[in-house]
Amino acid sequence: MKDGRIVKIGRIDESLGDKVLRADGLVVAPGFIDMHSHDDLVFFKDIANKPKIFQGVITVVCGNCGVSPAPVRRETLDILKSYTGILGREVSFDWSTYGEFLRKLEELDPLGTNFAGLVGHGTLRIAVMGMEARDPTPAELEEMKKLLAQSMKEGAFGMSTGLIYPPGIYSRTEELVELSKVVARYGGYYATHMRNESDAVLNSVAEAIRIGREAGVPVEISHLKVAGRRNWGRMAEVLRMIEKDREEGVDVTADVYPYTAGSTYLAALLPPWAHVGGEERLKERCRNPEVREEMRKFIEEREDWENFVRRAGWENIVITYSPSHPEFTGKSIAKVSEEVGKDPYELVFDILAEDGTDAGMIVFLMNEEDVEKAVTHPYVMVGTDGLDIGVGKPHPRAYGTFPRLLGRYVREKKALTIEEAVRKMTSLPAQKLGLKDRGLIREGFWADIVIFDPKTVIDRATYENPRRTPEGIKHVIVNGVVEIEDGELTDDLGGKVLKNIYSL
Ligand SMILES: [Zn+2]
Repeated sequence: MKDGRIVKIGRIDESLGDKVLRADGLVVAPGFIDMHSHDDLVFFKDIANKPKIFQGVITVVCGNCGVSPAPVRRETLDILKSYTGILGREVSFDWSTYGEFLRKLEELDPLGTNFAGLVGHGTLRIAVMGMEARDPTPAELEEMKKLLAQSMKEGAFGMSTGLIYPPGIYSRTEELVELSKVVARYGGYYATHMRNESDAVLNSVAEAIRIGREAGVPVEISHLKVAGRRNWGRMAEVLRMIEKDREEGVDVTADVYPYTAGSTYLAALLPPWAHVGGEERLKERCRNPEVREEMRKFIEEREDWENFVRRAGWENIVITYSPSHPEFTGKSIAKVSEEVGKDPYELVFDILAEDGTDAGMIVFLMNEEDVEKAVTHPYVMVGTDGLDIGVGKPHPRAYGTFPRLLGRYVREKKALTIEEAVRKMTSLPAQKLGLKDRGLIREGFWADIVIFDPKTVIDRATYENPRRTPEGIKHVIVNGVVEIEDGELTDDLGGKVLKNIYSL
């Protein structure tokens, strides 16, 4: 390696190198790419991005699920702050354009991992029209397109949506097609947390593919799943649909984390209309007895939205973090409800009246066979969807995803080969991102390398102890810098801010 790049592969005289890493009996692979992460603000607190680098992740793709910290408009900054609260609070937001945000990250350079970012559709919408449950006016749509084009020129890799979350949920497909055309013009891709991942999952895949077709944009389906007991077993149908559209020429791929539980903010249990106007209005609604009654009725009766309570049940919804009630951490709503003698609806409204969008949850929604079908499919890559902002008990995927795939699905279950697993974690995402000199071990490519022990590699993070680092990841090299040696962090970092190759 020299100047961060791979110079030569093969037998090399040891005396020619400054440093020799032993890899006898180990696998030398390209560094892993976390196709779905939410580490946009992590570097301001944890420059090394430890949960990821210990997994062998050398690039994180951020700005997913419609949420990115830029672009920002001062007038709607408060709404954006609560919208991005799930990524971590106590951030200065002393940037306005996407490019300025990237420059802030570059000031921190070198980072623990490379950073690649998407622009969140929700962030764009908030900048232009706040948290409004309506279509944009033609002028507002133009304004969003302008902000998006500028962000793409400044280095974003595409646009993401979070269509179960306000304000993404208020948008129609046509709006997303119009915006995605801008993304296509700059060689980016469209990543989507779909409108529905349970009863209406096939309609949601169809919407994503329609956007891909009409806008001429590559599509990435985020954290692919079929949620809710009555939908278990339908992953095969979903994958068939993706295959069919690929055959017809739409570049559609997906990413997945190998767990049967998902995680998001607790406020996602509320009806979409409860979010209109922003976090303060949401808290007011949670305090108002009449609105509480309306929300309860909506959750109990309505099926035409991503209704986590109905799909999972209170016993499968676990609180990961509540600033007002830290003692609830790690317990299900059903359990807390029993312990404090309060109806589960009343309990949730009480928590959200205080915590707003800060409280988090884990929801057990999927079954193992569907997860295995997804992780082994050739067009599905790997994304943690995980982050640790240092509070509560985060989902263990933040610390375990990549080693879990290698240990559990490759070695133990023999569900896929090690070569195929590595491809899904490296060259496949690099191709989607358009990274021409990453994702493979090849002379002239950036030296992003992970060296792991195929006999021992495994995740150790659990729902009870989510912050355990994995086993078997021996050495990690980012842009030629050895960041992990013999399983320990060195003090050197090599990560950079990456930019879309069409950017100026
Ligand atoms: Zn998501």
